[in-house]
Amino acid sequence: MSKVRIYTLAKDLGVENAKMLELLDGLGVSYKSVSSTIEEETVDLIKEMLAEEAAQAGGAPAQATAAPESDTPTDAGSAAPAPQADAPTSSEEVPHRAPVVTIMGHVDHGKTSLLDYIRKTKVAAKEAGGITQHVGAFEAQTSKGKIVFIDTPGHEAFTTIRARGANVADIAIIVIAADDSLMPQTREAIAHAQAAKVPMLIAINKVDLPQADPDRVKTDLTQLNLVPEEYGGDLVVVPVSAKTGEGVEDLLEYISLTAELEDLRADPKGTFGGVIIEGKVDKQAGVLATVMVQEGTLHVSDFLVVGENYGKIKAMTDSNGARIKEAGPSTPVQVLGFSEVPSSGEKVQSAKNEHAAREIVAARASDRRDAENARVQRRLTLEEMMGPLGSVRTVNLILRADTQGSVEAIQGILARKESDDVKINVMLAGIGAPTEGDVLLASTAEATILCFSVTASGGVKKVADGKDVDIKSFRIIYELIDEVDRLIKGNVEPVFEEKYLGRAEVRMLIKHPKSGTIAGSYVTDGSLKRNAKAKVTRGKQVVYEGTIVGLKRFKDDVREVQTGYECGINVDWNDVMEGDIIEASEMVEVEQN
Ligand code: GDP
Repeated sequence: MSKVRIYTLAKDLGVENAKMLELLDGLGVSYKSVSSTIEEETVDLIKEMLAEEAAQAGGAPAQATAAPESDTPTDAGSAAPAPQADAPTSSEEVPHRAPVVTIMGHVDHGKTSLLDYIRKTKVAAKEAGGITQHVGAFEAQTSKGKIVFIDTPGHEAFTTIRARGANVADIAIIVIAADDSLMPQTREAIAHAQAAKVPMLIAINKVDLPQADPDRVKTDLTQLNLVPEEYGGDLVVVPVSAKTGEGVEDLLEYISLTAELEDLRADPKGTFGGVIIEGKVDKQAGVLATVMVQEGTLHVSDFLVVGENYGKIKAMTDSNGARIKEAGPSTPVQVLGFSEVPSSGEKVQSAKNEHAAREIVAARASDRRDAENARVQRRLTLEEMMGPLGSVRTVNLILRADTQGSVEAIQGILARKESDDVKINVMLAGIGAPTEGDVLLASTAEATILCFSVTASGGVKKVADGKDVDIKSFRIIYELIDEVDRLIKGNVEPVFEEKYLGRAEVRMLIKHPKSGTIAGSYVTDGSLKRNAKAKVTRGKQVVYEGTIVGLKRFKDDVREVQTGYECGINVDWNDVMEGDIIEASEMVEVEQN
């Protein structure tokens, strides 16, 4: 008996894929994805169910038993409305939005060529005379609606954006050259998509080459536990050629199918939220930033806040270079109006007016300062370090070694270290020194990077320091394993030590209407710092322990005051008295080996 693919059936019957899956769920039929096949008997049942539903709905002619509405729904030029945009949703439902796609993979496997091919064939030609500018993203028009592609040089957008805690891509396409198969950056790209929990499609590129071997790619994928559909898994693998265009339509169709399953929605009337794709300075225009609208709608003259900067939108252009006045969800727009260049991945908010924008910026600046200070002072609890006690803990690792043999040997030992309480998740295991990409992955996944017989370059170390990522190098496998044991035991709690800073004598008290009691003091030893711990002693007795919340020299707020100077100290306590000694100290992390 012949079998039918779910999405083909959905197309033929004129229903959405999601609806089809709902019906299958109702029947208790198991499937892996919309490209799974089902028995003909099931098809009959589905048709009956649809016919019944239509009859109940008031006699609207059921399409269930009718022939497909259109035999050639792939005609991109037809006026057929995009099913996603016009899906018959109830009026209160948040509307669908177009998927945002990123293309990742090993160098030279054809990412740029694929993007170029799609841009050439799927982006509406610009009016004569216009030059299409590179803005970091473009919108492709397909028979199934709009698909937005992230198109940034170096293809680092996905990682850098994610490293800032934002997610811009809904779907990741992993490009693998059919003549080269899986390479280190392919594995990295896969690890990134997995860590971000973004659905992944595989495009096996360069199938036009005589030496292309798509089967080898599929077999290699299974070794990463990624099983293509033909082999019984649920990984969609599409053979394509960015050179001839073969398979590109299929790929676009799969993207739309995946998007439909993801049920991507955003409210154009909601509060605006977006992410910076890229920013640059144009010699003539000034600062230009590409913003991906994620929620709500952006209008010319809106005030935008990015990090601790804000700007008013003077002009907006779409990815085709056309001037626009507003932009809804899943639209990349180039915005003119920022005074400073924002970085990729920064979140964008809007504000009602300039005053509101300034207030947001001021609040952020003060939050940042507080967080910076708190980071130094706070002692992390074991629970914060390790997650709720009693639950299964995952130790995320990125492994780098000199040879494939070492990688395998280490992985073999690690596998035996897993227990009911602790799962070891090697997110990425590769040969060679750790890269900046590894650090970004580690920072978003809170992983530790362990190196065996390889070391990180200075540049990579610097990035790791900036992101608080641990890179540890070993020359003996068992030392590396010991480190893993320590991570497993959670024996990684940073140890803080109290470091004495200095002391001051209180000579005069000033009552401040807002800040309370300010102790006019003279620093007799060392120095005092704002936000340091404070111990107040009276005679021989410690009368209070708290924090120096404010420090002033005359009228100015200062961070630090040295021996021999007078200052105003504001402790978070109002009962300081003349003659008290205020001693300052701070918590510093002790290096552990
Ligand atoms: P990227 O580094 O992944 O962006 O790779 P590129 O798009 O720059 O492609 C690398 C090389 O492979 C270029 O010389 C392309 O012309 C070539 N290439 C890309 N796609 C195909 C393809 O489908 N078929 C063939 N024969 N060559 C391709």
